[in-house]
Formats: sequence, structure tokens, C-alpha cells
Amino acid sequence: MTTDSLREAASALRHARDVVVFTGAGVSAESGIPTFRDDSGLWQQFPPDHFATVGGLMKTAVSDPQRLAEFLLAVLEPITSARVNAAHRAIADLERHVNVTVITQNIDGLHQLAGSTVVHEVHGSMFEIVTLKGRFVRLLSRSEMQQIVDDLREVVERGASLVKVIGAVKPMLGLSGRGAHRPKVVLFGEEMAEPDWSQALARVEKCDCLMSIGTSGAVMPAASLPRDARDRGATVIDVNLQPGAADFQLAGCAAEIVPRLVESAFGDENM
Ligand code: NAD
Repeated sequence: MTTDSLREAASALRHARDVVVFTGAGVSAESGIPTFRDDSGLWQQFPPDHFATVGGLMKTAVSDPQRLAEFLLAVLEPITSARVNAAHRAIADLERHVNVTVITQNIDGLHQLAGSTVVHEVHGSMFEIVTLKGRFVRLLSRSEMQQIVDDLREVVERGASLVKVIGAVKPMLGLSGRGAHRPKVVLFGEEMAEPDWSQALARVEKCDCLMSIGTSGAVMPAASLPRDARDRGATVIDVNLQPGAADFQLAGCAAEIVPRLVESAFGDENM
């Protein structure tokens, strides 16, 4: 990334009235949550056919509960111990300067922790528990999540049976007085999370600048949002280790580039 390209992107951001910040796994990479598709990503160890669909997960639960417990631990442990990074904070800070909506594919709740006030979670949230029909049951606290992680770790270390795995994850996945419940997380082949997805589509229609941060653009239909914004005349800025089609492509780590971009666009307003 050159200083010129950063300066030009900052100028576009400064002149925007309505900004959408569209984020993927890369924005949380510096918080210690691995991405799914990169070389060391989760799908390398846990193939999506077995771990990213309801059917695949149910088969794995019966045939290999130890692997299921290892997978759940690999997903939940980093999310539970993650802290917001400089990119999340800079995105939250942007609200002091311009109208901002965050649309995230992430399920980690870090944008809200950083202080962003309008966040549409189009793939849901690991912290929201819903019925199998999608009706809200309750929010899980981070300390409840920590307890689940501790219990799962013990199950993995001592050797898992299906009964022990179910016991460990019961607060987020299982049966209660209100029927079966699960985290509101969109698995492969499932509908997008509502009302967030409809709200996201409406916001993308109105925005004049979209910043795409740390997303591979491989997961549809979410990946269509930057292109939709661009087709409607919005300026698109892509921040990624390997940026793709955009008006401004800023190559590098989100936790380094996003704060520099926001500072370059609005830094003089802070004085
Ligand atoms: P992805 O795993 O497909 O791609 C991640 C992208 O981030 C890649 O393009 C990579 O080049 C980029 N990247 C990696 N590190 C970066 C960094 N430090 N700075 C900037 N860019 C970086 O992720 P995706 O496109 O978001 O889609 C994967 C799906 O998996 C999403 O739907 C999401 O729900 C889920 N997921 C969520 C989390 C989370 O909640 N933190 C983590 C992993 C995956």
C-alpha cells in the first residue's frame, strides 16, 4: 500500500455522508480469532462438509464426538478470549465523524464491545440463543461462554462421549423448558440472519461509501454487498492482506491500516 493510495482513500472517506463498514474474519484476526479460509484457517483442520452444515455436524456428533468436541473448542475458545483490536476501535471511532453502519459476517460480538452502535450481524452471533425456528431465547454472557469452554476442554482432555459433549454445551445447544435451542449462527445452506440481512441490504442501497475489511468475498450472498454498493455508485475501499476489486485497494493488516485511514481522513477534526 502506498501513502498516496491511503491518502486518496482517506479523502473519499472524508467526503462521504453515509458509510457502510462491511467486515469479515480478517478484522478479528489480530484479536486472536483465526479466519476460516486462510492457509492456517479452521477449514484446513475441520472440513466444512463435516463441520459447517447441520447434517454434517449431526453425523460427526454420532460417529466421532471427540472430533466434534475439538471443533467446538477450536471455534469457541478464541472467541471467548478475544479482545477488541485497533481496527474495531477505529471503526467505532468513525461514528464521531460520519453516519456509520457496521455490517459484519462475524459472530464474535467484537464490534459492539468496541463501541459501534449500529451493527447488523448477517451471519448471526455466537452469543445469541434462539429456538430452532429462530425465535430469540436469551443472550449468553462471556462468563457463561468461558464456562462452556472450560467444560469442553475437560471433555477433550479426558476423552469425549456424545453425552459429555452435550452436557458441556447445554447452555447454548440442547433442550430446555422452551424446547430445543441453538446459537443464532448461520451454517452453510441456511437462511441469512434476520432482520439483520434485510436491514443490511437497505443500508447498502443508501450508502455513498463502503469499506470492506478483512473479507475474502467467498461467502455468498454477503459477498455481493460491495459489488451492489459499487453498482449503485458508492465508493468502495477494500482493506485486506490481499485486496480485491474496489476503487481503493489497501493491502495490509486491518489493525494497522484502518486506524491510519480514519486518522488520515478525520485526524485534524480531533485537534
Ligand atoms: P474468510 O476466512 O473467508 O477470509 C478472511 C479474509 O481476511 C481473507 O481475505 C484474508 O486475506 C483476510 N485477512 C486475514 N487476516 C487479515 C488481517 N489481519 N487484516 C486484513 N485482512 C485479513 O472470512 P470471511 O470472508 O469473513 O468469511 C468466513 C465466514 O466465517 C464468515 O461468514 C464468518 O461468519 C465466519 N467467521 C467468523 C469469524 C469471527 O467471528 N471472528 C472468524 C472466522 C470465520
